[in-house]
Amino acid sequence: MNAIGTMLSVKDAIISLKAGSGGIGACLVDGKTGEVVERGRNRQYSPYFRSDMHGEMDLLNRYEDRVQKKGGSSSGNDPRQCGGLILFTSTEPCPMCLTRIINSGIQRMYYINPDLEGGMAHRMEQLPPFWRKFAAGRDFRQAECSPQLQKIAEDLFRHSVRSFAKQKE
Ligand SMILES: [Zn+2]
Repeated sequence: MNAIGTMLSVKDAIISLKAGSGGIGACLVDGKTGEVVERGRNRQYSPYFRSDMHGEMDLLNRYEDRVQKKGGSSSGNDPRQCGGLILFTSTEPCPMCLTRIINSGIQRMYYINPDLEGGMAHRMEQLPPFWRKFAAGRDFRQAECSPQLQKIAEDLFRHSVRSFAKQKE
């Protein structure tokens, strides 16, 4: 499931960049069966600017809208039960996305390209205490994949960072 998760994330990052958004893709894989549950990608700049539409946000929006889990703290039904889902993403999640992933209940998240400048997964100890505690015990780390695939994920991400810098000039 590592192979399908990482390959599809990178594939969707390519699709995203071609569509005029950031080069980041993400997907949800069932950790027990290896089945692809949902795919997502960055949609921040196309069809129109949406500051929340990072790849991981798009992925979780699609999954949660489709599954429509019911429940909450008063119902005794925990909508954060994610049944062994693994979230793959082509670049390390930013603070917004990492917090969203924690809130979703997903226990395993593997990213391909580490983002030392903007990524939050490698500095979990800097989360506010509530979120740090909420995230305790989760398996969030860099995905195992070939160095070639990691380089492609990095190039796709860097390409969108460069386009963004150009827009600001
Ligand atoms: Zn993000």
